[in-house]
Amino acid sequence: MFSIKMRSSLGGKNGVGGKHISGAERIVKSCDVEKTVSSLLERARNHERGKADFINLKIQEVNENEAVRVPLLKITSKKTSSKSEGRSFAKSELLRIGVSEVAVKNAFEALESLSDSMRGAIVLDADSGERLDSFGMRGVRCSNMDVADKDKYEKKLSELNMAGEHAREALVLASKVAWAKGALAELCWSDDPNYVTGYVASQKFGYTRISVMKDLGDYVGGRVFFVRLPIDLDSYIDYLQNQVVLVEV
Ligand code: AMP
Repeated sequence: MFSIKMRSSLGGKNGVGGKHISGAERIVKSCDVEKTVSSLLERARNHERGKADFINLKIQEVNENEAVRVPLLKITSKKTSSKSEGRSFAKSELLRIGVSEVAVKNAFEALESLSDSMRGAIVLDADSGERLDSFGMRGVRCSNMDVADKDKYEKKLSELNMAGEHAREALVLASKVAWAKGALAELCWSDDPNYVTGYVASQKFGYTRISVMKDLGDYVGGRVFFVRLPIDLDSYIDYLQNQVVLVEV
């Protein structure tokens, strides 16, 4: 299999300092590399955030035998009609999962005070609410994951009426994150100004889509990964960044 990673930006110099436009990754069979590359290029050049003028593509063979397989989280949806309703539902879900009040408060304060999106996630202690990673404004990037069977996954998503790249990718990421050792919950809303849906995810209750979590036109999104100590932080971050994970539908 091959891992294909794309990141794109606009207005920088040699890809440095510009505005982040889009990033995506796939793990595909050798015969699907060309068509995947072409769809990722298309995405970078026609994105709501702008048309990228720098596109970085990395293609690398991965050993399927080294991949960890995790199950896809079960999916439920909550219909909300405003940012405040969505966020207050997300807070109650996080508490129901077992995240402490102070950790929920800190997570929302951290995301709501961002003036631009981070590229990765904030890792918080689910009990003390303290930030554990030292990645600053970059955050921890979860990488090297995809679904094991693309056709089965597409079928499942269409049965659930979940069209579109956002949900497709978020659910894979959330499934990887939820099965990390020590993981308790995840909170996310998108940085795509036209996509207002967010989610709370956990091994305990699965992936809960929340239809409105922010205002239309808002460019700032974010993610928080809540973990329950004790964990080995280095191994946790190594799992998120480097472990190849194939999600079984
Ligand atoms: P997105 O759902 O792609 O719009 O991303 C929403 C936010 O989640 C971004 O602004 C980042 O802060 C964070 N994020 C996006 N991709 C990742 C990733 N692969 N790993 C960790 N955090 C991410």
